[in-house]
Amino acid sequence: MSFPPRRFTSPPPELLKTNATARGVVLRDLVWHKAPMILRVQFMGGTVDQQNKVLEFAKPWSTAAKLEFERSTAFDAEIRVSFNQQLGNWSYIGTDSIHRNLGYHKASMNLADVDSATVLHEFGHALGLGHEHQHPDAQVTLDEQRIISDMTSHPYNWSLEQVERNILKRFTRAVVDTIPYDSLSIMAYPFPAAWLMAGSPIPRNTSLSSGDTKLVQDLYGKRAP
Ligand SMILES: [Zn+2]
Repeated sequence: MSFPPRRFTSPPPELLKTNATARGVVLRDLVWHKAPMILRVQFMGGTVDQQNKVLEFAKPWSTAAKLEFERSTAFDAEIRVSFNQQLGNWSYIGTDSIHRNLGYHKASMNLADVDSATVLHEFGHALGLGHEHQHPDAQVTLDEQRIISDMTSHPYNWSLEQVERNILKRFTRAVVDTIPYDSLSIMAYPFPAAWLMAGSPIPRNTSLSSGDTKLVQDLYGKRAP
């Protein structure tokens, strides 16, 4: 596997109130408060097959907790998914998806890759979750210079600000609620040993961990068996 993997996500930099916070990390102010918790998903392009796969791959979240993702053509759908191959994989976090600075005519999520791990990760963001490796208690010590060097060069070409916001910055307890750090979270980026000064490499997680399940249930309620 080449490193870093392509599914590293980078929300557009211009937004928003979240300058960067992640989770078993919940961006407290960005969690949805609706009843019933039905998040409408509008597709901005994509083939029928891609659209069906997105809804299918996102299901483990709505199986775990009391929420639904509902296909919609409403202009003001909470989650608006585009499939631009050039834009990588990213999502706004929680209610930032409907932030007035964004506008309903713009996508709140882009999927360059439609696979289960990517869709779960980006829908985790859409539910208000941040990156696990930015957990206040993340048990990794990053080789920051190496990461900056790798991510600001080809093929990523991220800005230093993007690297800091998506990888290096730790969430502070003022903005996030957490459950214990969980290296198996779908919200963790994989980290190779080369990026770490200390701590164990994080594998590429591909399904919801028990911590992810607990977290989404804490947020949105546990689905009755
Ligand atoms: Zn992400």
